Amino acid sequence: MSKKLKITILGTATSIGVPMLGCTCPTCQSIDPKDRRTRSSIFIEYQNEKILIDVGPDFRQQALNQGVHDIDHVLLTHEHTDHVNGLDDLRPLNFIHKKAINFYAETRVLKEIETRFNYIFDPKGIRLPRLNVHEIKPGDVTIGKETIQAIRVMHGELPILGFKLENFAYLTDAKKIDSAETEQLMNLDLLIVNALRREEHHKHFTLQEALDFISMVKPKKALLTHLSHALPKHAELNNELPTNVSVAYDGMTISIQ
Ligand SMILES: [Zn+2]
Ligand SMILES: [Zn+2]
Ligand SMILES: [Zn+2]
Repeated sequence: MSKKLKITILGTATSIGVPMLGCTCPTCQSIDPKDRRTRSSIFIEYQNEKILIDVGPDFRQQALNQGVHDIDHVLLTHEHTDHVNGLDDLRPLNFIHKKAINFYAETRVLKEIETRFNYIFDPKGIRLPRLNVHEIKPGDVTIGKETIQAIRVMHGELPILGFKLENFAYLTDAKKIDSAETEQLMNLDLLIVNALRREEHHKHFTLQEALDFISMVKPKKALLTHLSHALPKHAELNNELPTNVSVAYDGMTISIQ
């Protein structure tokens, strides 16, 4: 029997969010709640493990909106501000549940986080939120009683991580994925992948690059995330996508049994 997996998409925007502050483009002026996108992150309930991937600047409001009251593990894809700046808001979960949160990232990412949030890691600092730090590399990662795969993804020149659990994978901020990694991502039940905008960007898949990658790895279903305001409104964009591809939105949930 396959394992229990529930995914809650907490945020689906690129680094500046949608709407973009000060912008009056049609997407930013949309009244559709699905066009209000917070910074990209997902929450996964996998058997008994509660896993947060990335902890961006909107984390607190995302957790309140989606009823996320407990987190056992935080995994980071990379160190960019839109993926880490909610770290301080993990503190109440330490207080309420009286436990440290497992925190997983690559060595380079941990170094950068230790510099930017020195009070969390400095032995003379307040050391809150309380984190159990685990250095990870591409390959198998033990998360509580479960194992997931960290997958190497290139974010422009920066090597970052995607994550795969069962027949599901989450890739954000990808621009290039080598053939060995692509092989691991073939024929998934669900793939969540970034698609920034139509115009070329040196660090992110464009919409076309994301669609080309999806047609190469052939998931049953794909969802697009890390979107910019330069893409059409949610409903319009959905209309132009292949039948197995949809635009993700904040608060979307998917259960895979
Ligand atoms: Zn990002
Ligand atoms: Zn706009
Ligand atoms: Zn990034």
